[in-house]
Amino acid sequence: MKESRGNRLHISILGKMNVGKSSIVNALFGREISIVSDFAGTTTDVNQKAMELLPIGPVSIMDTAGLDDSGNLGKKRVETTLATLNRSDVAIVVFDYNGIKDCDINVLAELKKRKIPVLSIINKTDIKLPPGNDIDIIKSHSDNIIKLSATKDKDIPSKIKKGLINILSDDFINSPSLLNGIINKDDIIVLVIPIDKEAPKGRIILPQVQTIRDILDNQAISVICDTERLQSTLDNLKTTPKLVVTDSQAFKEVDTIVPEKISLTSFSILFAKLKGDLKTFEIGANTLDTLKDKDKILICESCSHHPVEDDIGRVKIPNLIRKYTNKDIEFEHVSGHIFPKDIKKYSLIIHCGACMTNRREVLSRIESANSNGVPITNYGIVIAKCLNILNRALSPFKS
Ligand code: SF4
Repeated sequence: MKESRGNRLHISILGKMNVGKSSIVNALFGREISIVSDFAGTTTDVNQKAMELLPIGPVSIMDTAGLDDSGNLGKKRVETTLATLNRSDVAIVVFDYNGIKDCDINVLAELKKRKIPVLSIINKTDIKLPPGNDIDIIKSHSDNIIKLSATKDKDIPSKIKKGLINILSDDFINSPSLLNGIINKDDIIVLVIPIDKEAPKGRIILPQVQTIRDILDNQAISVICDTERLQSTLDNLKTTPKLVVTDSQAFKEVDTIVPEKISLTSFSILFAKLKGDLKTFEIGANTLDTLKDKDKILICESCSHHPVEDDIGRVKIPNLIRKYTNKDIEFEHVSGHIFPKDIKKYSLIIHCGACMTNRREVLSRIESANSNGVPITNYGIVIAKCLNILNRALSPFKS
């Protein structure tokens, strides 16, 4: 689906002439978006492009003319550059070893006044850094600073994306709703909640509670049952439900009961959408088809709950994957806020539903995985894949 311009994150790229703005834009997207030359002032107007910047999502990047452009025409170009601030959700300001000028200080002050988050990039670190005092001024006006060489560094996209994830507002980072755009007012949503050994005594778990709240917020109707009573629940409903959401562990059984005409997904997939990036997770799950004996999978849980006998991360998912792949796969586990630096040894990372952490942390892990070339997926999606129902489970999000 094509994202409207209004839903894109608007990023302005600001800085003096020849500071490396266009090289950074090209390095970020891995292809020539802006023309680069050694001559100061090559970018003479705002070069605005709609791009996909995974895992952040759709962005509109505005590469601008130099802030120190001069002459009558130059002044007009600076005015056009500054006008991009009116539509900027976030600004990337680029500096080099020549230090800062008044035009830099003015734009930093203007960004601060407008409360636009600033990611400062100190470019050309392969040559030398700006004088110490200038670094202090940049620091005091920036929400985050990274140092790089646009021509020599290999991991520029990862550095910039992580820098952006750190400064984007919670409103942007957090998706507005679990079921937004999928259900409508007065729709009936059936929630299947098996009460097994993993179900906590006397209560239901957070993803289920949050889904019920979300259905209420959407002025829709939730009907709750366990797996054994799903058929009779469907038989007794006068109106066909819009959607069935099941615990991933009952996916196969629920898939056989729910008629094809009714959409089906899982709580864990709803959380994959809310906390991560469905496209990336789908690609990650599909790498199960290429795994070999002795490949390693990292299972990553956001909380350190006490593992039960039939634990989903330690027992159920490893068993499902061994059965699906018919390979001798090795599994390692991490929990809480720990995420290993050395992840290249893994053929796949599987993240839990992340109900105890925020999207920012999951996006940052996705970015680490992407930049290391390691596929990443999540519990619900990998379970659906192993049960051969991934297409059905993702279809509510693709229409
Ligand atoms: S944070 Fe992850 S492991 Fe912990 S309860 Fe939520 S989904 Fe399960």
